[in-house]
Amino acid sequence: MDWGRYNMAMSIDDKLGHNRFHADDNYAHIELNKDCTDMDIIKRVVMACPAQLYRLEEDGKLNFNYEGCLECGTCRVLAHDTVIKKWDHPMGGMGVEFRMG
Ligand code: SF4
Repeated sequence: MDWGRYNMAMSIDDKLGHNRFHADDNYAHIELNKDCTDMDIIKRVVMACPAQLYRLEEDGKLNFNYEGCLECGTCRVLAHDTVIKKWDHPMGGMGVEFRMG
């Protein structure tokens, strides 16, 4: 099989759909700073997360769910100490299991 052509034909959502997630209900590896009101940084994080885990509600409230995190670190680079209060890797054996390279 020509994996290069196979991968090119798949959408990002299709590729992400192959991943497995081992959610840790007892440990949130990312926590938000609820006091952050800087909408420029909040919007940047919402736009940048490849897993679309940040959602800005109409009332301006930021919703986030760490389950489904790809552990890419983008939100940490953009917003550590502003939107992000804590960023850590999941505990061993938990988190994302990449299935498409
Ligand atoms: S580490 Fe990456 S995938 Fe996980 S919440 Fe941050 S931006 Fe999204």
